[in-house]
Formats: sequence, structure tokens, C-alpha cells
Amino acid sequence: MTKTVIQINAGNFTNVFLIRGHAGCALVDTGNPGKADHILERLAECGVAPGDIRLILITHGHVDHFGSAAELRERTGAPVAIHALDAEAVRQGKHLPESLKPTHWIVALAMRIPGITGPDCAPAFEPDIVFEEKWRLDEYGIAGQVLPTPGHTPGSVSVLLDSGEAIMGDVVMGDFLRLLRRPGPPIVAWDLEQNRESACRLLALSPRIVYVGHGGPFEDLSGLSKGCKEIM
Ligand SMILES: [Zn+2]
Ligand SMILES: [Zn+2]
Repeated sequence: MTKTVIQINAGNFTNVFLIRGHAGCALVDTGNPGKADHILERLAECGVAPGDIRLILITHGHVDHFGSAAELRERTGAPVAIHALDAEAVRQGKHLPESLKPTHWIVALAMRIPGITGPDCAPAFEPDIVFEEKWRLDEYGIAGQVLPTPGHTPGSVSVLLDSGEAIMGDVVMGDFLRLLRRPGPPIVAWDLEQNRESACRLLALSPRIVYVGHGGPFEDLSGLSKGCKEIM
């Protein structure tokens, strides 16, 4: 069976995703700056040419997710979409500082080490599609929807395909203390409580597999969805 979502390792423990719809392809997230060549090579291995990408969706305004968006837009010709509340990050080409609050004291300590959080700026650009509400991807040949899931950043979004696959950006993160093998809360967040609510709302829609920006994918979600209050 052809998989609808292909996870691509974009380096630095960061994933981006190819969605192969019934009548078109989309790229979800673009990794850190300088990753366009690597991503396009992985797409070619999947038989996908740059011109096959009809949409580039950015799950949120962190540099490790939009860093190569400007270059990939240029090379694919696809429009870049981001939620209005995170659009300023890509216009400035940097993280919005209020979205980088550590959620654990170990992270707070680690963030004092220069460079540990990776690049903090990327080529700035004006996004082509700026949205506020949930929307469907049918016009791009994909049966699924984009849902606002705020909390990690104000404008964080997730994708839920009709086939049951979800891409949740950094709403859920592979737990760094468990080598990314188990799902956990994000290590930084604008509003962790809102993030928890967003995660629970999406998991209540019963995705059968969850892809995330760091670690994953996670197929056994029973613990996560049943006990999401505790885990998140
Ligand atoms: Zn993030
Ligand atoms: Zn991230």
C-alpha cells in the first residue's frame, strides 16, 4: 500500500513530511536553513519532482520548521502557508521569543549552552497563504484538513488526513529524555496549558498514527489519548 505520509529526516533530529494525496503532493515543514537540497533529494527518491509539490505548509513559526521554506518555494513554485499568528516569525526570519519558554528546568538549563537550540534565524519571506481558521486541502489534491492547535506557539497547526494520519508539528514531541522514542510535551512552549488542550482535542479525533517534528511517528496512542492530561 502506498503511504500517504512520508517522513523525511531533515537533520538535527528534525522531520519534514511529504503528503502524497490522490491528486497532488504537499510538503509539511522545511527543516532548518540550508536543507532544501537534502529535502529535494529525498523527494526525488520517492519519485516526486519539485513541480509536483503544490503546497508548502508550515506547522509553526520556529526556524527548524520554516528555515528552508523560502528556498523550497523558489525551487518548487509552491505557495507557502502559515497561520496568521505565526506569520510574523517568517516575515522576520526568526523565532518569536515569547514562544520559546522552556517547559522543564533541564531544558532551561540546557538552553544556556550557546548554539544548542540550533540556528535562530533563517531567510525571511512573505508567506503566500495566511489563514486563521481550519481549512481543507482538497484543492491541492489531498483529502484532509489543517487544524489550528495553538499552544506550542500561538499559530501552531496540525494536519489530519481523512485516512487517519496526523502531523502535529511540535504539539507532541518525541521525549528527549527517552531518546525521542516516546511521545511527550514540547520542550518549549508559548502556553503549555493551551498546548495540552490542543493535543487532547486533536487526539479525540482518533488519528491512527501521529507524525511529529522531532522523533516519532507514534502508532500506539492509547496511553497518549486516554491519559493525555497526565502525559502532556
Ligand atoms: Zn517548535
Ligand atoms: Zn521543532
